[in-house]
Amino acid sequence: MAQLSNDCFAFGGELMSVDEAIALVAERLSIVAGIEDVPLVKADGRVLAEDIVAPIDLPPFDNSAVDGYAVRFDDLERGGETLLPVVGRVAAGSSLDGAAAKRTAARIFTGAPMPKGLDTVFMQEDVRVSGEGVVLPAGLKRGANRRLAGEDLARGAPALALGRRLSPPDIALLAALGLATVPARAPLRVAVFSTGDEVVSPGEPLGPAKLYDANRFMLQAMLRRLGCRPTDLGILADEPRSLTDALTRAAADHDLILTSGGVSTGEEDHVKAAVEAAGALTFWRVGIKPGRPVAMGVVAGTPFIGLPGNPVAVFVTFATVARAVIARLSGESYTPPRTFPVASGFAYKKKEGRREYVRVRLEAGPDGRLTARKHPREGAGVITSLTESDGLVELPEPVTRIEPGDVLRFLPYDLLR
Ligand code: AMP
Ligand code: MG
Repeated sequence: MAQLSNDCFAFGGELMSVDEAIALVAERLSIVAGIEDVPLVKADGRVLAEDIVAPIDLPPFDNSAVDGYAVRFDDLERGGETLLPVVGRVAAGSSLDGAAAKRTAARIFTGAPMPKGLDTVFMQEDVRVSGEGVVLPAGLKRGANRRLAGEDLARGAPALALGRRLSPPDIALLAALGLATVPARAPLRVAVFSTGDEVVSPGEPLGPAKLYDANRFMLQAMLRRLGCRPTDLGILADEPRSLTDALTRAAADHDLILTSGGVSTGEEDHVKAAVEAAGALTFWRVGIKPGRPVAMGVVAGTPFIGLPGNPVAVFVTFATVARAVIARLSGESYTPPRTFPVASGFAYKKKEGRREYVRVRLEAGPDGRLTARKHPREGAGVITSLTESDGLVELPEPVTRIEPGDVLRFLPYDLLR
């Protein structure tokens, strides 16, 4: 695995925009995840390591899209009904030998190959069957209800691009093309710590002045959704020596180290010193709210991200900065998630020059139009502001105020991963 140089996160400016952060990550980091052949049943969420080209036509042969009667279009009367004798029968999985005779129809079922010479299929619901054959109404187009070989994807055409994170429909396509395994990037091994003498693990007694660790569990859940393999390394005390040891050990067998808390500038925050002792650390003041500076570092050649301590800030900085790092290290082609236009249900003032994410609930009006209602609580530590909302609206850097009715960019939580 390529070792990072200590200055790879260096940044000259004061405030960094989210887009600058994403671009810097793409430029300075390279893929560390290896390539392995993954069976399709395990491929969901994995990153494709090679371009996939269709090895066969999809569908592989001309076939019927419905249950009905296959005919030759040129045998049909132009103005009225046509009566044709039914001479063959072809079910899915079988085929007819030879070409169909002129002025005959064949009984056909969905997915069965088109008999040679026939090009159009009538749905069984649309015809009358009599003793002499099948009576076909006028008005159908040439080629109706027939699927051509390769019309979905032709042999040799690009199917899926390298760097794509596979979804269930992608897996359907790979399977339909006959691929049993797919070349994918190995899951990123991510070490996850929490820091802080006040933080205790759920399941343990809650002493005075203590609170339960929320971040470590949220982060592991987010990492799993991204196909990463997180290692739970528990809570580290705010004590420089044990921090340095734990970080150095984690660096040896992980692709990324992710911590939360302990990187503000308070005198009790020792993560900074610990990372510096083992490598290098830079603070990225990303122009984003909620979110405090994100500590970007290198520990014995392995990238380190120190997220803030407050859970909402953790969520937002993970979904932006850490997300970009994970994409880069795992070879994923990454573009920030698409947003959806919704109407603002609130007025809001913001500082120019930074991007804000506001937690909102969506409400559908009688006309189906969606309005974003701002969660009443804005604190970066308020976890229920996340559980009681549907997603974030993204207020771009130049915006200074929002009025009710303005069009906002909505990001559902499900896409923020
Ligand atoms: P810090 O950045 O360490 O100063 O932490 C900022 C705030 O986040 C403090 O109120 C911490 O108690 C809180 N905090 C830090 N780590 C966690 C965690 N793992 N789970 C929940 N809250 C946390
Ligand atoms: Mg702390």
